[in-house]
This record gives sequence, C-alpha cells and structure tokens, in this order.
Amino acid sequence: MRAVMETYKRLGIAPTSGKGSWLFDDEGNRYLDFIAGIATNSLGHGHPALVEAIKEQAEILIHCSNLYEIPIQAEVAQMLTQATDFDKVFFCNSGTESVEAAIKLARKHAHTNYGPEKHEILSFSKSFHGRTYGGLSATGQPALQEGFGPMLGGFVHAPFGDLEAAKDLVGPQTAAVIVEPIQGESGVRVPPAGFLQGLRDLCDEHSALLIFDEVQTGAGRTGHLYAYQGAGVVPDALTSAKGLGGGVPVGAMLAKEEYAALGPGNHGSTFGGNPLAMAAVRAVLGVVDDPGFLEEVRVKGTILKSALGKVAEQVPGAEVRGEGLLIGVELGPEVAPRVFERCLESGLLVNLIGGSVIRLAPPLTVSRSEIRYALDFFRSCVSAVTCVQDESEIALSA
Ligand SMILES: *Cc1c(COP(=O)(O)O)cnc(C)c1O
Repeated sequence: MRAVMETYKRLGIAPTSGKGSWLFDDEGNRYLDFIAGIATNSLGHGHPALVEAIKEQAEILIHCSNLYEIPIQAEVAQMLTQATDFDKVFFCNSGTESVEAAIKLARKHAHTNYGPEKHEILSFSKSFHGRTYGGLSATGQPALQEGFGPMLGGFVHAPFGDLEAAKDLVGPQTAAVIVEPIQGESGVRVPPAGFLQGLRDLCDEHSALLIFDEVQTGAGRTGHLYAYQGAGVVPDALTSAKGLGGGVPVGAMLAKEEYAALGPGNHGSTFGGNPLAMAAVRAVLGVVDDPGFLEEVRVKGTILKSALGKVAEQVPGAEVRGEGLLIGVELGPEVAPRVFERCLESGLLVNLIGGSVIRLAPPLTVSRSEIRYALDFFRSCVSAVTCVQDESEIALSA
C-alpha cells in the first residue's frame, strides 16, 4: 500500500473475493458484509446476473464513444425513465459527477430562462455531495472543505430539517435546492416530516429546481427504486450512483424534460454511459426494479431496524434511524467505536460514522437468515461493550 496515496484511513482487513453477502481474505477469514461498499454492492458479491451481464458485454463491446449512438445506453435510459418521473438521463461514472451534472443543469436552466443572477444553490448542513469542487461546495461539512478553498461562489447552506431557515435563503437568485432525502454520510439522518414537501413548495414558488441527491438512497436502497417514491415528493432532477451499477462505476443524473437544459457541447464524459457500465445497470435494474424485490427490501429493513431498536435499548440515548436497508444506529462517542471494533473482530462489516453512529447497508439481496446472524453478532458486541447481561429475547418477525 505504500505507493497508494493515503486518502483513506484503512482498516486492517484485505478481502480478495466475495460471494453473496460474504467477503473472504487470503488468510481464511470470512466477513459478513453489512456495509456493501457503502451501499454500492447492491446485489452482493458475484451475483450471477451481474457477472454474466458484464462477461457477455465485455466480449461484445466494452467501450464506444458518445460520438456515436449507443443502443444499450438508450435502452437503460429508457428503463430509468420508465421506472421514475423523469424523462432524460445523463450518464457519468460516479456520485460526485452526477452532482456536478445536476448543478450545471440547474444553472444552465436558470441562466437561459431567467438570466445570470439566478445561480445560487442551496444545500444543507451535514450533507455530503461528493469530493469534486461543485459537490464539495454544496457539501455542508466545513471540515471536508478545510484547506481547499476557495469553494465555488454562489453556494449557501441552511441547517438540515430547518424549513424556516431555508425560506430565508431561497429567493429569485436561487437556481436550485439540493438535498439528500436521507442524509447518508453524516449518520443516516431522516428529515422531519414535511421538510421535503416544504422544499418542493419553496422551489415552486421561486422557480428553482429541486434536486434530490439519491447517490446513496437510490437503486432500491430504501425499498423503493428511489427514496423520493417512498417520500411522495417528486424532485425536478435526481442524482444516482453507488448501488446503480452493483459495483461497476457508473453515475446518472435524471431530469424532467422541461429542465433538461444541457445540449450538445454543454457537458460530457468520455466513459459516461459506455456499454460495459450500461450492461451492469441493466442487470441491476433487472433484479431491483421489481415490486416483489423492493417489497422484500422493505420487509428485511423493518426486521433489521426493529431488532436493532431492541438492541439499542441497552444504550442510554441510543437511536435507530433510516429506511429500508440503510440504517444508522446512534450509540454515542463512548459506545459506538467500541461496538464497531468488536463487530470488525467478530467478522461483521459495518461502518462507523463520525465516531458515534454505526451504519448498516447490507446487499439488497441479503437473506433473512443472514440478517438474524448479523443481529446475533451485533447484539453480543453491544452487550459486551455495555456489560449488560440481559439475554432478553430479540423478537424477530421473520
Ligand atoms: C457517496 C455520495 C456521493 C459521492 O459519490 P462518489 O461516487 O464517491 O463520487 C455524493 N452524494 C451522496 C449522497 C453520497 O452518498
């Protein structure tokens, strides 16, 4: 690893292969993967449909320039628009790129229709929108921006969940409001009831675009193909990546026809929407975009969340948040890091956020018995840390 730039503080494990919800290293250890590359391995590891799709496409055509028509790109765009409220898709390669595309779309739309003054982007505290300058400028975490200034001009931030504060900051100058329907990176934070609808109304009032950053919540993660479909608030544009390709790098920005302001020469990406990535997305959607599959994600999420709620009762002030298979367990700075350490030692892969929240995001294909297994691990890790000998039954509705 010495030659790799140290942009990550890495944990001391090195998985080299995977199957389903499990990862394996070269020393004979196995890990139950309840973080799935941070909501990225949506179909788990080595899913036959995804593996076959990639193999097959690799033999036919890996890359083809956007100088030409790409039939499989058109097909996948059609799949996405049919499954959502959007009409147009721009493909890229990552979450942050999908956010860049959405910001450019919003500014271009505002510029064309209302003039250059209308360019401000409102986002929220504790948000995460990526590491490139547009996404980073929108990100509401000063610690991530520290040392990289100046950020882009025209970005303002309001406290997440505070509709009144948002009202004060949105006006004729606002091109767009960008928000995660559930904040992932800052600890799986769910907005208060009415917040997203309030933003919808605010954007309508001031002719600003409402953009949902669904890089983490999308591709079935919350038990809906996109979280907005569960929230009942339809944005004007949406960003998607992480789980969309099941591990193959791909991003997408979806928009309604009337806001699809990007034309030839306005934006682009060499790799964006290439046949290999499109084959992966087609395979993922083939599995995930299915009412029965999404229903099962919701059921599994409910089982996991309610059982975690019981476990968390051992810890004063604990809270379990999230939807579907995106769950955060707030355990506080005393307990969370120790529980996290123990999970890692016992072979359960979860993720520690901000030193106080444990995030769980297993593959969407996780089985109910794997969920029970993970809960057994997690329960004993929490018990060991809190030294509570309470062996009370954790009721599983499975
Ligand atoms: C992960 C994430 C991003 C950035 O995605 P990358 O693929 O790492 O660039 C942006 N927005 C949200 C909500 C995310 O969770």
